[in-house]
Amino acid sequence: MLRLYTHPACLEHDPGRGHPESPARLQAVLAALDRDRFAPLDRIESPRASREALERVHAPAYVARMLASAPATGLVQLDEDTYLSPGSAEAALRAAGAVVAAVDAVLDASASRAFCAVRPPGHHATADQAMGFCLFNNVAVGAAHALAERGLERVAIADFDVHHGNGTQDIFAQEPRVLFVSSHQWPLYPGSGAAGETGVGNLVNAPLPPDTGSRAFRQVWEEMLLPRLHAFAPQLLLVSAGFDAHRDDPLAQLQLEADDYAWLTARLLDVARTHAAGRVVSTLEGGYDLGALAACAAAHVGALMG
Ligand SMILES: [Zn+2]
Repeated sequence: MLRLYTHPACLEHDPGRGHPESPARLQAVLAALDRDRFAPLDRIESPRASREALERVHAPAYVARMLASAPATGLVQLDEDTYLSPGSAEAALRAAGAVVAAVDAVLDASASRAFCAVRPPGHHATADQAMGFCLFNNVAVGAAHALAERGLERVAIADFDVHHGNGTQDIFAQEPRVLFVSSHQWPLYPGSGAAGETGVGNLVNAPLPPDTGSRAFRQVWEEMLLPRLHAFAPQLLLVSAGFDAHRDDPLAQLQLEADDYAWLTARLLDVARTHAAGRVVSTLEGGYDLGALAACAAAHVGALMG
């Protein structure tokens, strides 16, 4: 069974008029998942992440600052494109909390898989820096919970957002119990993710040139990234599911189709079924063309339903 974690508070983080990471993104995803085909989804309101869960990957002073700095009105700017609005702290707590709750649900076998339809996204946030629209690193908080609280020894994170998940990489670069595999356009924001960045042998980066397209994208996963996931034999597979590699996305030029996400999700499900008793927790990252985002999220979640 597939669980859908989300929370209305995730619509209340608003980085300002004209900002690509808008509440309308999550509205588009939720509308796409409201169709008949998705009626079997088990819909859960995500809880808040605990301070303890956040502090497994973020500096305590950083967590305190994120939770205390949201303005009563207007915006607080954190970096060139990352802002806090009045609803940001609550949204960020629910976004990270969704992944933690989803990890518990699949490990307790109360669900086999989960998709977290949340924002703000997370994979650019480092231990002590908000960046790239991200406040808390949701997927990293979930992975650290699985290691520390649930005693797992091998957790894999597959990141197919078109941008490199620099925050996730930084947080786990010295952690051999986590395998991080990423395909991303390069050169592109944030500039990291070269093939030579391998951590302690636990990072696998596949930088792809603009106009890579479906065929070459699938080939890179088939020949390079999926074999590394299989070789690692994860006990749990987490997914940073950004849909900004779609051809209509305004922020990148990788030129994928919605069907590529269905294809890759099915391959990732194979990894989880082979090694992890089918346990997958996926969380929304980027995707900035509303129509493409809705179609790609539907393709991804449809494939996760199996
Ligand atoms: Zn992205």
